[in-house]
Amino acid sequence: MAAPKVAVVGAGVIGLSTALCIVETCPSCSVAVLSDQFSPNTTSDVAAGMLIPHTYPGTPIHLQKQWFKETFSYLFSISNSAEASEAGIHLISGWQIFKNTPKEELPFWSDVVLGFRSMSEAELQKFPQHRFGQAFTTLKCDCPPYLLWLEKRLKAIGVQMYTRKVADLWELHSEYNVVVNCAGIGAHQLVGDESLFPVRGQVLKVHAPWVKNFIRDGDGSTYIYPGIYKVTLGGTREKDSWSLSPDPGTTKDIFDRCCSLEPSLQGAQDIKVKVGLRPSRWCVRLQREVLSQGGAKLMVVHNYGHGAGGFSMHRGTAKEAARLVGECIAALQGSSSRAKL
Ligand code: FAD
Repeated sequence: MAAPKVAVVGAGVIGLSTALCIVETCPSCSVAVLSDQFSPNTTSDVAAGMLIPHTYPGTPIHLQKQWFKETFSYLFSISNSAEASEAGIHLISGWQIFKNTPKEELPFWSDVVLGFRSMSEAELQKFPQHRFGQAFTTLKCDCPPYLLWLEKRLKAIGVQMYTRKVADLWELHSEYNVVVNCAGIGAHQLVGDESLFPVRGQVLKVHAPWVKNFIRDGDGSTYIYPGIYKVTLGGTREKDSWSLSPDPGTTKDIFDRCCSLEPSLQGAQDIKVKVGLRPSRWCVRLQREVLSQGGAKLMVVHNYGHGAGGFSMHRGTAKEAARLVGECIAALQGSSSRAKL
C-alpha cells in the first residue's frame, strides 16, 4: 500500500494537535488539515486555555485523569523550553475559591497540577465572601499563539493546510484513506450528532498586567485568568445558545463580578469582548467508525465534544485518536495484502 493519506477536518486545538500526533506516530502517513476556519477564527481562539479540567460525566475518571496528565506533561516540557514564549505556554499560580466547602474536597486532578493545597486563613482574607479555597500552580496556553505554533510545526513537517468546508465526510472517500473528524461544534451538522450541543461562553480580554495570579470561583462561573499579554475575565455558560453576538449586559455583569473578586481590575484597559460555543456532550466522542456506500468504505476516527475542557485534555485525546488512526491503517494494510494473495 502507498503512503496512507489521512485528512483531519478542523483546525482548532483538537484538529491541529491530532494532526501532530498522527505524524509523530505514523511518519509514513501523508496528513492534510482541511478546515473552513483557521486561527484566529475558531472557538479555540476564544478560550482562556487554562489547564483546569472540566468533568465529562460519561467518561471514566481514570481516562480523564490520563488525558489530563498527558496534556499537562506535554505542555510542562514546552514551558521549560526555549519555545515557551512563542508557543504561549506558561506556569501560573492562583486560587480556586468556594462560598461553601465543596462536596469533593480533592478533585481527581489535584495530584497532576503542582503544589495543590488548601488555602490558609491569611490567603482567604483576600476573599471575604468565600469560606474555603484551594491554591495550586497549573499551566495556561495563550490560545492564538499556541494554535499558530502548532500550525507552524505542522507545516514544517510537510502537513498541508487547506481552507475547505466539508459538507459530508463521505465526500473525502476518493481522496483519503482515513478521515479524522475534529470539527468541534461543527460536528453537530457534519455528522448529525444531536447529542452535541453548544454551551455559549462570553469573555472579556483586558489589559491589566499587574494581575499575576488566577482566581476562579469554584463553580466556574466567574474567573480571572492572566495570560502573557491579556487577562481573560469570565464568564458565562449558556446551554443550547447558538448566538455568537456579544451581549452588552453580560459584558457589564462579567466585569462587575470579576471586580468584586479583584477590585484592581477597575483600572483595566483595552477591553475586548469574545464569544465562543463550547462543543459539549455527555462524553468526548473518541471512536472509530466505518462508513460505506455501494461497496466502498471509508475509515473515520471521531475526536470531538471536548466542551469546556479542550485545552486541558487535547494532547491526551489527540494521542488516543492517533492510536485509532494507526488501527485503521493496520486494517487497511491487512486487507490490501490479503487482496494481493
Ligand atoms: P474548534 O476550536 O471550534 O475547532 C473546530 C474546527 O473545525 C474549526 O477550525 C472549524 O472551522 C472546523 N470545522 C467545523 N465544521 C467544519 C466543516 N464542516 N468543514 C470544515 N471544517 C469545519 N478549555 C480549556 O481546557 N480551558 C479553558 O480555560 C477554556 N476556556 C474556554 C472559554 C470559553 C469562553 C470557551 C468558549 C471555551 C473554553 N474552553 C476552555 C473550551 C475549549 O475552547 C474547547 O473545548 C476547544 O476549543 C474545542 O476545540 P475544537 O478544536 O474541538 O473546536
